[in-house]
Amino acid sequence: MALKLISLGSGSKGNSLLVSAVDGNHKTTVMFDCGFGIRELHRRLQRAGCHPDELSAVLVTHEHGDHANGLLPLAKRYGIPVWMSNGTFLGMGKDFEDVDLNFCRDGDCIEIDCLKITAFTVSHDAREPLQFHLTDGVSKIGMLTDTGQVTPHIQRELSACHLLFLECNYDEAMLEASIYPEHLKRRIRSIYGHLSNAAAAGLLAGIDRSCLRTVIASHLSQNNNLAEYARKAVEEVVSADGVQVMVADQENGTDWIDI
Ligand SMILES: [Zn+2]
Ligand SMILES: [Zn+2]
Repeated sequence: MALKLISLGSGSKGNSLLVSAVDGNHKTTVMFDCGFGIRELHRRLQRAGCHPDELSAVLVTHEHGDHANGLLPLAKRYGIPVWMSNGTFLGMGKDFEDVDLNFCRDGDCIEIDCLKITAFTVSHDAREPLQFHLTDGVSKIGMLTDTGQVTPHIQRELSACHLLFLECNYDEAMLEASIYPEHLKRRIRSIYGHLSNAAAAGLLAGIDRSCLRTVIASHLSQNNNLAEYARKAVEEVVSADGVQVMVADQENGTDWIDI
């Protein structure tokens, strides 16, 4: 059994992540978020060597367009089961007729073949935002984007991961100096906004990192951050542990990463 992960793109213009569990000839692939239009999504899936028919489920973190824009066309066209919170469903306000829709909430464990996926609550300006961690029984992957603060609950859920896909949305000085209007700066910095590089580093400093091998900095702002700043903030906490640090970008996401 082996787990691998690829980001199809990460940032405010669209997010989608695939996790595959490979066991001999059998492969289970699950998508997390579907924030690209259907044509763009097909292009990105093709680049990842994945056909939509291979997807066993799509899990959606929250209703914002950069996470949910392409969901309905994909789920309807290929009959892929969808998981989300009831609040996300209400927040989307869309017609899910003919979609295999399943609800989950904080603490739920969703089993999809050999993958056990756990949902947990985060702090973001959406109706009922969730993030997920998952395991194949051997390795654990944690994902955290779109949260304005790190809570003790989040820290507990993300302890002892082998790989973390972690939001590093903004550099505090760049956001302060940016041309964004004050209300938007306040929204981004609020406890229902996004994680700064420093906040992401703080999360890493506070969790059990004994299994950690890879951190992927993600959901970087194109205006208020630089890949080198996000990487540096993460490396300052984990480089002594020999952890590999990568940055997922908006256009190219990442390559497939073995865990
Ligand atoms: Zn987002
Ligand atoms: Zn969001």
